[in-house]
Amino acid sequence: MSHANNALGKPLTGWRLQIYTVIFEADTRAGRWFDQALIDVRILRLLRVFRVFKLTAYVSEYQALGHALRASMRKIMVFLTAALMIVLVMGTLAVPTGIVTAEKTYTRRSPVTTRTCQECLTEGHMPDANFCRHCGARLPVYARDTNAP
Ligand SMILES: [Zn+2]
Repeated sequence: MSHANNALGKPLTGWRLQIYTVIFEADTRAGRWFDQALIDVRILRLLRVFRVFKLTAYVSEYQALGHALRASMRKIMVFLTAALMIVLVMGTLAVPTGIVTAEKTYTRRSPVTTRTCQECLTEGHMPDANFCRHCGARLPVYARDTNAP
């Protein structure tokens, strides 16, 4: 017997070791029998719930519900198909619309110009900027056609 077995509470010898083997180790015939007996007790306790709450009275109701669901299977499928179509339409219309709106908002906030700093060649300054946003050098006057958009 190793020290690890002893630390886990496993008895070393005698009838206590036999009981331990039956209860905690299912590789023996008695161990498998014990596990099966425990499972049977669990099943009987579950069945007792039906008797205590008189759940057998509801079985016919569940059967009626099952018949109704089977009878209206086509209507349910039509509903699910319509719901799926709605999800697909929302995915193909609403989400790209949101993306385009976000992109338009972003470009309106920062208008892109071709103004270039003559010191560091950084592009994309604001139309009303006086100094480079990268190096701070004075920018040339913004030359723009009056009929340009
Ligand atoms: Zn610059």
